[in-house]
Amino acid sequence: ESEKQHRRLFETMSQGVIYQAADGKIISANPASEKILGISLEQMQGKTSMDPRWKMITEDGENVSGFEHPSMVALRTGEKFGPVVRGIYLPERDEYVWLSITATPLFRPGEDRPFQSYAVFDDITIKKQHEDEIKKQQKLIKTVLNKLPIGIAINTIESKPKVELVNDNFAKIYGIKKEELPTVESFWEAVYEDEAFRKEIKNRVLSDVKSGDPKRMQWHDIPITKNGEVVKYVSAQNIALEDHGLIISTVMDSTERKLAEVELVKAKEKAQESDRLKSAFLANLSHEFRTPMNAILGFSQLLKQPRFTGEQKEHFIATIESSGQRMLNLISDIVDISKIESGQLDVSKSIVNIHDSMLYVYDILMPEFNEKKPQVSLRLNMPSGVITLETDKEKLHSVLINLISNAQKFTNKGSVEFGFKVDNGMLVFFVKDSGIGIPKDLQQRIFDRFFQVNTSLSSGHEGSGLGLSIAKAFVELLGGKIWLESEPERGTTFYFTIPVQKPVKASPESKPDEYSQLIQTSDINPVI
Ligand code: ADP
Repeated sequence: ESEKQHRRLFETMSQGVIYQAADGKIISANPASEKILGISLEQMQGKTSMDPRWKMITEDGENVSGFEHPSMVALRTGEKFGPVVRGIYLPERDEYVWLSITATPLFRPGEDRPFQSYAVFDDITIKKQHEDEIKKQQKLIKTVLNKLPIGIAINTIESKPKVELVNDNFAKIYGIKKEELPTVESFWEAVYEDEAFRKEIKNRVLSDVKSGDPKRMQWHDIPITKNGEVVKYVSAQNIALEDHGLIISTVMDSTERKLAEVELVKAKEKAQESDRLKSAFLANLSHEFRTPMNAILGFSQLLKQPRFTGEQKEHFIATIESSGQRMLNLISDIVDISKIESGQLDVSKSIVNIHDSMLYVYDILMPEFNEKKPQVSLRLNMPSGVITLETDKEKLHSVLINLISNAQKFTNKGSVEFGFKVDNGMLVFFVKDSGIGIPKDLQQRIFDRFFQVNTSLSSGHEGSGLGLSIAKAFVELLGGKIWLESEPERGTTFYFTIPVQKPVKASPESKPDEYSQLIQTSDINPVI
């Protein structure tokens, strides 16, 4: 009865079953195996796994030798082998049928070597084809995701969201490793170093998703910082897939765009500022011209009147002269500016004795200090000896005179000291005052055309706001740099360099003349 039942099962089951003897020869095969393998029992009987017509491969496409067929392994080892997936070549159909095979050894009582084995197998060809198809699709999706020029991350919507998928670019944009992203929390930790900002981001994500408003899911230019400094801007678009409980984040590195935007805003502000300054300048200019012009016309009228004494008239003439001078200065500033603007400034170089130049500037300005600011002393401080340099003398004088005149204008007591030092083979000129100083935030802007510091301390000073922009253009034209150090109410020091072809050294043979020695001593009374 049992034999009958066993046979019925063997004949009708949908799995294939093949019995093999200890030497590997096939003894019997059920109808299902005939169907699955497409060959009859007669074709199989008596053959062994070593038969060259059996072609078996693994899932990776590697050939499996007859010796390694599952039944042979079970016979050799005496142990159950499988389930394993193997492909069997069907020559009639010229294709592989894919099987999931388990081979089991059979023992006679009391024997330790199997006398037979049987292999049970399912036809999984269709399942495998589906699996292969899915694998192919997954591979394609992965490749596409990684090739996309944007970063993509998919995470779950829950209180502790998990990261489901991250593409290469996502990790690259944020400068992190994919392994650092098991959860969204760990991603935030890795990316946002500021805790308060991290919290803000976290709250925003959750509330934005809840709102369902696509606009709120668009994030522009989120700053990414390293040690407190912004190193990158990132823009993101989150897409909620509520039915799947997922959020897709697409991100782009927007640093370049953001910086360009910042530059653009700066340029716009600068253009507006310059425009505003220009209008102010024009208004100022007419005022600047009108004041000395009125003085010239007014005092010329008075000169015609006989009732004034000779001494009074001399005073009128002096005022007319200084007003004329002021107008001339203004005109020459405007001419310089227009030359700078149109790129028509010429450099006329000659060999300049710097020592003489400094004395020349001192001589020109000294009387003005005596006259206008006797309480401020002018000092010249420079190394002794002869230093010559090939540069544009007029421009060098003009820069120095400009800086010293400014220093005088903005200093009410103390001193204005100027001169130069030899530093690392370079000539560094300086003009140092003990005046009102310049607030830090305005220290760069004072070089802008038309810019004047507008404080109660500096109000009431004449000027067009052009001097320093001209000085800067001149210094740069001569190949140097200009900068300043200043502290409000303590004073200001302007520095500028003039490059030299050969390193400069004060020549040892040259003897400083008495005049310059006298001026060098720092406690010298400036009225020579
Ligand atoms: P201005 O003709 O107004 O002097 P400048 O371009 O020479 O024009 O200077 C611009 C502004 O810079 C001045 O109006 C003044 O506010 C400030 N400034 C220049 N030099 C000094 C200085 N030595 N001390 C304080 N403020 C200064």
